[in-house]
Parts: sequence; structure tokens; C-alpha cells
Amino acid sequence: MTRPTHATINIAALAHNARWLKSIASGAKLMAVVKADAYGHDVRIIAPALDGIADAFAVAHLDEAIELRELNITQPILVLEGAFSDSEYVEASYHNITLALTDEWQARQYLSIPIPQRPAIWIKFDSGMHRLGLDAAGVQQLLQAPHSIEPTVFTHFADADVDRGKTLNQLYKLTRLTQGHRCTLSAANSPALIQYPETHLDWVRPGFSLYGANPTSLTLPELQPVMSLNTQIHSLRWIDAGESVGYGGTWTAQRRSLIATLPIGYADGYPRDAKNGTPIWLRGREIPLSGRVSMDLITADVTDIEYPQIGDHIELWGSELRIERVADFNSMSAYELLARIPKRLPRLSI
Ligand SMILES: *Cc1c(COP(=O)(O)O)cnc(C)c1O
Repeated sequence: MTRPTHATINIAALAHNARWLKSIASGAKLMAVVKADAYGHDVRIIAPALDGIADAFAVAHLDEAIELRELNITQPILVLEGAFSDSEYVEASYHNITLALTDEWQARQYLSIPIPQRPAIWIKFDSGMHRLGLDAAGVQQLLQAPHSIEPTVFTHFADADVDRGKTLNQLYKLTRLTQGHRCTLSAANSPALIQYPETHLDWVRPGFSLYGANPTSLTLPELQPVMSLNTQIHSLRWIDAGESVGYGGTWTAQRRSLIATLPIGYADGYPRDAKNGTPIWLRGREIPLSGRVSMDLITADVTDIEYPQIGDHIELWGSELRIERVADFNSMSAYELLARIPKRLPRLSI
């Protein structure tokens, strides 16, 4: 590693968050959502660190599930989008991976498989998000079919962060549909788990909050950021009032200014659209991003900092400066900031 730029992944914070989420959903089992490389945290660090805490894992695609098996994860693994083709049912069965059935064509493919060879399934009900899931009749039909293992019926909330009424309406549709059937149920993502205990059911499925990010407007000191995105000051220069910085000259000095250049850019997942003034953490305070984000570099105004030095530690987001603050400042989604971090950025577990 030649650059001082990396994300540290705090596995003690991860374990703490997972245990806290489990404690508020104490009647339910915890399925840790680790899709998209564990929300950009590196699934090779995150999944083993949750062994013994998470009761199961969820990913988006079969490839991601097989990667977990290759990491020697033995818990149940759910593929949230289900199969893309026939061959995936056989492969899922072989690796003991659970497939979601999210559409009628997936249900037909599944029912065409001889019963002993059927993989474990979770039946997805479209209770109002209208993205994936079967309608009520489709779910009923699957519940009546023979299975190798008793299925779980699940749904996904469209607005659990902000809309209690819509969320509880989706929940009601799920519980009404499955009344009298022998099946376990799941609905809660992070915002529902935190805000609506009635959604906990048999399995909760947090992603975002496991990583210490807060999807609600509540103050939750219990959630500890797992990732800190760090670098160091690489260069310092004084510029005169009226001079501008970076591509396009989007920031102009109003006074003689000291500019710090930091070796991180949009190729590391720092968003190119970050606005001037986006907070960056240096020595216990915020400094403003000043100038457009380049591929490998950004610039910040450090005129008000006493004696900044080359090599000074910088946090772009993490335990000091919350990622939600960086996202909110830019009207961006912290989910997206995390999920877009590319492979090239080293992740170091601490
Ligand atoms: C991503 C996802 C989750 C986790 O959502 P968070 O808001 O990150 O907790 C749960 N369920 C499904 C179906 C998902 O796609």
C-alpha cells in the first residue's frame, strides 16, 4: 500500500451494532444484509466478523452467496433477487443457498423442479413497493405446494424511514395473507427494525444500520460507524485572493488562502458531485472542500487551521464525521456513498 488513503473497518463497532439491533428485536432472528460487498465495507471482513452474531446472511445475487460459502460461512444465506436462470436452482441447492421467489416466472421454474431437489426458498410478497414480489394469489399457490423445507414469506418496505402509515399497511397485508399458514415471516429493514417493533416478526433484515449508519431522523448514539475513510495531507500551498482552485475554477479564494491537497478522489468513491463546503475532518474540526473533486485528488481550505502539516490525518467520513452529514450536505444518499466505493480503495480491519 503506497498511499495513505484507506477505509478502516472497525469490527468491534460492527459487533456492537449487530448486538444492539438484536437486543431491540429480541424475539426475532437477525439476517445480516451484506449485499454490494457489505455496503462497500468488504464482505471478506464483515461476514466472518458477524459469525456467531448473525443467524443468517442476505445478498442480492447467487454469485455473492457462493462467495460467502467460499469464506466458510455456514449460516443460511438468502439471495434476495432469486435466480436469473434455471441453472441457478441446481447450483443454489448444491451450495445450500436459499433463493427468493420474487416473480411468477421464478415460481414456475421452482415448481418444475422435482421436490427433493428444490432449494430452500423465501417467498416474496409485493405488499406495496411494486418492484419485486408475487401477488397474494401467487404467494398462496406457493404456500400450498410441497417444499423440502418450510418457506418464509417476506416483504420489503418502501418508506419505512419516513412513512409509518404506509409501512404498517404493508405489514398488515403480509400478516393477513399468511394467517393460518405454517410459515415464518420477515419484513423489517433497518428503519423498520429501529422504529416499529410490530414489524420484527420472525426475522429482521438490517443492512445500513449494521454498519453504524442511521436511516432515521432519531438520535441514536448506540449506532457506531464501522467505516472511517482516511487519508493525509499530501500538499499545501498559499494562493492569493481571486485565484481559483481545481478543474472548472468552481471555488475562488475570497482572501489569501492555504489550500491542502488530499490524495483521494472520485476513483476512490469520494463523490465527484460533492459541493464546495462539504465538511472534511482535520484535527478535531471541520474544514471545507474547496474546488471540484478530481479522479485522485481533492482540495480543502485550511486557512483557519493552525499550522497544518503535510501528513496530518484526515477523515472524509467515519467515527468523527458521520457519513450521514456528508450525504445530507450534498443531498446524497449515504447508502449510495458506501455502495459505490470501488475495489481499489484498501479496506483495513481494526
Ligand atoms: C437491502 C435490503 C434490506 C436491508 O435494508 P437496509 O435499509 O439497508 O437495512 C432488507 N431487505 C431487502 C429485501 C433488501 O433489498
